[in-house]
Amino acid sequence: MLRWLTHIPASLSPSIERRANLLSRLLFVMMVILVVTALVVFLANPAGSVRRLVYGSLLALFMVFIFGTFMLNRYGHYRLAAGITLIFAFFAPWLSAWLDPAIMKGDFVPLNYVLLPILLSSFLLRPLYTILISIIQFAALVFVALLTPIRETINWPSLIIFVFFASIFSIIQNIVRDRDQLQIDQQNTRLREVALLLREETIRDPLTTLFNRRYLTETFEREIRRAEREGLPVGLIMMDIDHFKEFNDTHGHPAGDVLLHEFGLLLKDHIREADIACRFGGEEFILLMPGAPLQITCLRAQQLIDKVRDMQIDYQGIRLGNVTISAGIANFPEHGRTGQEVLVEADAAMYRAKAAGRGQLMVAAR
Ligand code: GH3
Ligand code: MG
Ligand code: MG
Repeated sequence: MLRWLTHIPASLSPSIERRANLLSRLLFVMMVILVVTALVVFLANPAGSVRRLVYGSLLALFMVFIFGTFMLNRYGHYRLAAGITLIFAFFAPWLSAWLDPAIMKGDFVPLNYVLLPILLSSFLLRPLYTILISIIQFAALVFVALLTPIRETINWPSLIIFVFFASIFSIIQNIVRDRDQLQIDQQNTRLREVALLLREETIRDPLTTLFNRRYLTETFEREIRRAEREGLPVGLIMMDIDHFKEFNDTHGHPAGDVLLHEFGLLLKDHIREADIACRFGGEEFILLMPGAPLQITCLRAQQLIDKVRDMQIDYQGIRLGNVTISAGIANFPEHGRTGQEVLVEADAAMYRAKAAGRGQLMVAAR
């Protein structure tokens, strides 16, 4: 139940959400304390006494106030709820001092409650507000001390010094907590960035910056299941650079890397947002086209084959010879019910394209 009560809508910013959660718990505790206080007031004062009536009504009013504030905060109005809480905590001690003549005559204990808004502010607001509220409370206490006859009956300097020390500690607590929290927030942001970067590194091929085989394996079945639910096809093109070993042997491994990199760029230039381009292995690439029927997949493959044939590769100022690719095409659901089945069919089709003379595409047989 406490979980339901203190649940705060997630649409708030993290720092506000944290304060809102704290306020929720504080208000809940305050409600419990008020109930206990009401019990004590009823037990300590005889029935029909003025004190019982005054404090009973005051406590009932406070409870309604706090409950209303609690619900405001619960439904996402943190700032309003925090403001009301502070105003309430600010005026409550002065209101009770004004209503209860015993306080001004010498019972100074209830005046200690002037610390409440200072303490609350140190939890809920920024240090500047805590300083401001401390100054106001401090000035009000001095003002009351100077203007009432009470200064002759109680040890005012001691009370004021106590409030002064408690305010200073609250302000320090506020500053330290806010600074620590800022540091934690910054570290969390950094951690999220690093996690994102690491995730990128585990799913990307560094040479081409295309997705890697791990990502394809993770994604393929998911895309197929999604397409199945939506009644859509998924196209798959498997491509392999022809005679790449020869290219490496002729121009050197670094030139081969440049070719792979350029091919990666070309692939990226010719895909749609929903398409997934991967480097599947050495010089083998896969293009996954969610939603693409067989005819569109074939058109795209032919377009890529033509583009690669025209691709110019320069390495260290020298124009290298042109290359070709062979492509195998398979589609879900025509050629397989699972990602693995579609992949095997596309691979077989690609080897048929190689056998048929390279630089061309073949569609899966069944
Ligand atoms: P085919 O037309 O039948 O596909 O012949 P191929 O020479 O392209 O195929 P083969 O499998 O015989 O050779 C692939 C070559 O790709 C061998 C390997 O050294 C090279 N290779 C794999 N990964 C890289 C890489 O990251 N950089 C470079 N430069 N070469 C690579
Ligand atoms: Mg090859
Ligand atoms: Mg190969």
